[in-house]
Amino acid sequence: MLVDVMSPYEAAVAQFDEAADRLDLSQAMRAILRTPKRELVVHFPVRMDNGDIEMFTGYRVQHNTSRGPAKGGIRFTPEVSLDEVRALAMWMTWKCAVVGIPFGGAKGGVICDPQKLSLTELERLTRRYATEISILIGPNSDIPAPDMNTNPQIMGWIMDTYSVHKGYVVPAVTTGKPLAIEGSEGRLEATARGVQIVTREALPDLNLRPDRCSVVVQGFGNVGSSTARLLSELGCKIVGLSDITGGVYNRNGIDPRIALRYAREHGSLIGLPGTDMVTNRELLELPCDILVPAALENQITHSNAARIKARLVVEAANGPTTPEAERILQDRGVTIIPDILANAGGVTVSYFEWIQSMQHLFWSEQEIYDRLEMIMTRAYQAVQEKAHEHQTNLRMAAYLLAIARVVEATEIRGVYP
Ligand code: NAD
Repeated sequence: MLVDVMSPYEAAVAQFDEAADRLDLSQAMRAILRTPKRELVVHFPVRMDNGDIEMFTGYRVQHNTSRGPAKGGIRFTPEVSLDEVRALAMWMTWKCAVVGIPFGGAKGGVICDPQKLSLTELERLTRRYATEISILIGPNSDIPAPDMNTNPQIMGWIMDTYSVHKGYVVPAVTTGKPLAIEGSEGRLEATARGVQIVTREALPDLNLRPDRCSVVVQGFGNVGSSTARLLSELGCKIVGLSDITGGVYNRNGIDPRIALRYAREHGSLIGLPGTDMVTNRELLELPCDILVPAALENQITHSNAARIKARLVVEAANGPTTPEAERILQDRGVTIIPDILANAGGVTVSYFEWIQSMQHLFWSEQEIYDRLEMIMTRAYQAVQEKAHEHQTNLRMAAYLLAIARVVEATEIRGVYP
C-alpha cells in the first residue's frame, strides 16, 4: 500500500513502529503504546435556532496516561473522524513527552461546520458535547484545549458546563480559557512562540540567518497568523500567506499585521493590496527558505513534495507531511522540524495555565515566556543531540526521545493487576 493513502492513525502507528524497531521494544510494550487507552463516541441532539433538533457526533480519545492526566485539544470540523482523533491523541502523548511535561495524550472533536452555526447554536452544541464527554474530562483526568475552529470562548463554555454540573467552579478542567476566568497570559500565541523558538534554534544548523530568510505560512488562524508575525519579528521576510479561501504572495514581503487586519475585515486574505493571488496548492511550492504548514494534516504529500522549494519545513500544524513526502524531502536535503516538537509551545503554556488554575496563583507574561523559552530550547537541543547520536532525522529523534520516556513511565508503573 502506498503510504500516502494511509489514514492519519495508520500513519501515526507507522511512525511509532519505526521508532519502536530502533528502540527494540518488546511486542507487549508495542501493543500497549499502539493502542488508545479510551475511546468515547457520542451522538447527541442540539436544538437549532429555528426549533428543529439536529443530531451531532463527537469523539474524545485518551491515548495514554502513563506520564500524567490526558491532555489535548478539541476540533470542530466537518471532516473530523475517530481515526483522525486517535492519531492526534497519540501525537499528543509523544508531544508532552518530548517537552517533558507531565501529561498523557488525548484529543476530541465534533463533526460540524461552525461557519454554518449561529453563536447560540455553537454554545448549545459545545455545552451538550461537554456534558456527554464529562465522564472522561476533569482537572485530574483529561484537560481539553482549543484546536481547529475552537477558541477561548468555547473553552470557557466547557469549563462553565463542567463546573455547573459539579456545583462549584473548576477552572483547571480546560486550558486556553479567557484571562477573566483564570486563563493564562501568553496562551493565545504560545504555539506560535514555540514555532518561533525552534525555528530560531534550527537556522544556524542550516547556515541560515533569519534576516536573510523568506517564509511562507499556510493557514492564517490562531497558529498561522501569530507565527507569521513572530517570524517577521525575528527578522524573516514573509512572502506568502493563506487561509481556506486561498493564498497571497509578494516576493518583496507582506506585513503580517496588515494582513491580519485585512483578513479580519474581509473574512479572507484574498485581495490583500500589493499581493498576487495563489491557490493553496501553489502556495506550498512558492520559492522560500522556510515553509510553515499551519492549517491541517496531509498537505505535503508524494504528489507535491518534489516541488517544495523551502530548505526548512516547520510543522506548526499536526501531521502536515505524509511519511512518503518526508522521504522525498529528506532525499532532497530538506530539514523538517516535526509537529510533536515544533508546535509543542501550545501544550507547554497549557501546562502553565493548568498549574495556575489548580493553584489560583498567576504568573506574569514575562515569567510564562521565560519558562517557555527554557522548555522549548531544551527540547530542541535534546532532539538535535538524539538525531546526531542516532544519525537520524529530527522526527525520528523526537520519537525516540518521547517514546523512551513513555516506556520508562509505563514500566515503572507496571501492569495492573
Ligand atoms: P484555526 O482554526 O485557528 O486556523 C486554521 C487555519 O487554517 C484557518 O486560517 C483556516 O482558514 C485555514 N485552513 C483550513 N483549511 C485549510 C485548507 N484546506 N487550506 C489552507 N488553509 C486552510 O486553527 P489553529 O488552532 O490555528 O490550528 C492550526 C493547526 O495547528 C492544526 O493542525 C492544529 O492541530 C495545530 N495546533 C494548534 C494548536 C493551538 O494551540 N491552537 C497547538 C498545536 C497545534
